[in-house]
Amino acid sequence: MSVTRVGVLGAGTMGRGIAQLAALGGYETVLYDVAPALAEGGAEALRAALDKGAERGRWSVDDARAAAARVETATELGQLGGCGLIVEAAPEKLELKREIFTALAAAVGPEPVFASNTSSLRVTEIADGVPEPERLVGLHFFNPPALMKLVEVVAAERSSEAALVAATEVAERMGRTPIRAKDSPGFVANRLARPFSLEALRMLGDGVADAATIDRVVRLGGGFRMGPFELLDLIGLDVNLEIARSFFAQGGEPERWRPSPIQEELVAAGRFGRKSGHGYYEYGAGHEREPDPDLGVAAPTLDPEQLAKVDPAAEEILTRLFAQIANEAAFAREEEIASGEDMETAMKLGFNWPLGPLAIAELIGPARAVETLDRLRTDHGEAYAAAPRLRAEAEAA
Ligand code: NAD
Repeated sequence: MSVTRVGVLGAGTMGRGIAQLAALGGYETVLYDVAPALAEGGAEALRAALDKGAERGRWSVDDARAAAARVETATELGQLGGCGLIVEAAPEKLELKREIFTALAAAVGPEPVFASNTSSLRVTEIADGVPEPERLVGLHFFNPPALMKLVEVVAAERSSEAALVAATEVAERMGRTPIRAKDSPGFVANRLARPFSLEALRMLGDGVADAATIDRVVRLGGGFRMGPFELLDLIGLDVNLEIARSFFAQGGEPERWRPSPIQEELVAAGRFGRKSGHGYYEYGAGHEREPDPDLGVAAPTLDPEQLAKVDPAAEEILTRLFAQIANEAAFAREEEIASGEDMETAMKLGFNWPLGPLAIAELIGPARAVETLDRLRTDHGEAYAAAPRLRAEAEAA
């Protein structure tokens, strides 16, 4: 059955963005929230975003008008009848999401495909107890949905192939790039990004370099748009710490995912990053980073001569970072959380990485990655335990 009408539950930050994409994709779109003012407020913001996009030439004024005309609001679940796909973007609470889908199933019957935009809960647990759980999948958009192309289509244990295909097709018609993900902690992009902040924090703790130097090396030698600490300040240290704690707990407390004590201290001291004016950097009036000089370094690279132009510690910083990125990718491949191609897409579209984690693993090579991890494990312990798959590749090389 092809989808012509899409429902979105929750008209907050994510819901209104997802509804905007559905309307632009040509779907009749129903935006639901628990009170009329909330649903209307979301629709108002959505219409304003459509107008702004037309002003900026992202789509035509006619397309914006046509999309706005496709959007209706709802405060009764029954008004979502006739939707082929209903995306839930309500607060991140397991019980609430379960209750929503159970009530929704009673209101709209067995036909519609259900999708949750959860970023950290297990979709399989959300589906537990919901009638026809095989029609429930994860559909993980990134913030802001209108700008972020990546969508993770998460297969819960009981998700049917038909439901996964329907959700994938809608994501494509929304102009997104869907990838298929296993229902595992944090899915694909957020998980593969773990070492970017955690290894940077361990290097800061070890005194390898200060935060500004690590950021500069990661930009100039690594080719990343932002260094780990400026990214943490932007996301919010408190938000990132919650994510770190969730991964650590869900993953069975592996040492490599242990939240950083440095970050715990900063959050306890109220240093949340840009939003509080202090994080790894100070954000006074007029604070903007100086543009980086062009050092003629063809980043990303591990070439010692090239890296010496950036900083004396650059080779050590990137070797450690790339070894841990290669290691996380090897664990992820062992667990088959996604295809290799989808892992590359996830990091390039979800985090703007210059290369995917498998290409980074190839750049450092399995032998050097394992040698680096083993060297650090001697002093720093199990956070540097190499994935068996990476070790096997190193031995075969
Ligand atoms: P939000 O707080 O901005 O919006 C949530 C909306 O849900 C609110 O409008 C609220 O009124 C509504 N709501 C509350 N109870 C409801 C119910 N019973 N039925 C329907 N709607 C209800 O939250 P958000 O940031 O948009 O996040 C929504 C979901 O998307 C969460 O699961 C979150 O983890 C996930 N997510 C968020 C981001 C992000 O960066 N904000 C990124 C990816 C995924």
